[in-house]
Amino acid sequence: MNFRRKFLKLFGISALLIFTLPYKILYSATKKVINSQLSKKQKDIMFNNGTERPFTSDLLKEDREGFYHCANCNAKLFASNSKFDSGTGWPSFSEALPGAFKTKIDYSFGMKRIEYHCANCGAHHGHVFLDGPTATGKRFCNNGLCLIFIPEN
Ligand SMILES: [Zn+2]
Repeated sequence: MNFRRKFLKLFGISALLIFTLPYKILYSATKKVINSQLSKKQKDIMFNNGTERPFTSDLLKEDREGFYHCANCNAKLFASNSKFDSGTGWPSFSEALPGAFKTKIDYSFGMKRIEYHCANCGAHHGHVFLDGPTATGKRFCNNGLCLIFIPEN
């Protein structure tokens, strides 16, 4: 590698850092642990974009009426009538409550996916795919550990 190429490469890397750093700082600043009772695994998913093992969530079997809340900040995220069995092993929903989530494009693991996180506390919840079986066409694939179900009445 000659000097010019080395310089361009270094310059490219530092330019990338300069442009992504403020975003990273901003993004991490919007994420905050509110629930001090969160387990290590919950924190790994919600604040480090982890994923729970499929078919491990008790919420897969949950079919009562009610709302699914953020395990970190308790914000209301999904209504039970949007839940469906996707067969993927993660609780799945056809739509979120208005304003519940913010999204960003996630390029990790060599895939292009839409990551979504709680609009209130920034905690990561899952990915939304555009192959849902209902009229919305969406499939919110949510880690069960990030949700707390509160039945109605
Ligand atoms: Zn939250």
